[in-house]
Amino acid sequence: MRVLVVEDEKKTASFIRKALQAEGFAVDVCHRGDDVLATVSATSFDAILLDIMLPGRDGLSVLRQLRERKISTPVLLLSARGEVNERVEGLNAGADDYLPKPFVIAELVARVRALGRRGGDSKSTVLRLADLALDTVKHQARRGEKVFELTAREFRLLEFLMRSPGRICSRMAIIEKVWDYDFDPGTNLVDVYVKRLREKIDEGFEPKLLHTVRGIGYVLKESP
Ligand code: CA
Repeated sequence: MRVLVVEDEKKTASFIRKALQAEGFAVDVCHRGDDVLATVSATSFDAILLDIMLPGRDGLSVLRQLRERKISTPVLLLSARGEVNERVEGLNAGADDYLPKPFVIAELVARVRALGRRGGDSKSTVLRLADLALDTVKHQARRGEKVFELTAREFRLLEFLMRSPGRICSRMAIIEKVWDYDFDPGTNLVDVYVKRLREKIDEGFEPKLLHTVRGIGYVLKESP
């Protein structure tokens, strides 16, 4: 599950990010309200944690903007101002849940998890490319009649590639999205995982789907 945390207070954002990562979520952080739309347009999230008081554009306005654009990602509003009016306003604007600050981190994690499940009910959970299918709920992939198990990391790698079919994904982008590193570990980590994944999804099948773009990265597509 990939979660976007929109929170301008850096300490709080980092605290939330670490707690969610410890629970196995992939987490992106945004510090400004006016950055959210671009971030959400570039990456698909399963849930958004949205603070109300933000620089650039406040959380309620961000929320209205997303809903106007038909972006239906579940949103958990977060605010120091826990007044009833604002909560009602938030829910009317299309929020799925509301959590007043200060919060207990375990509760926040539980609510985010619940939101992700809710989102999963309403949208397709199977990604497809040619005869390759990835069930994002069961964490299982299938090519033709063959079902194969993936490790958590292989799953995230395949999910990332399948969400951007035909798009070249650089090694650095993969490291950021699949490993959550914001630095290049300077190893052949990505290549090793790609090789392993390729053995599962491409070996013995035609056409090959996982292609190397020399010097840049990888792309998942039907034609070479
Ligand atoms: Ca704030």
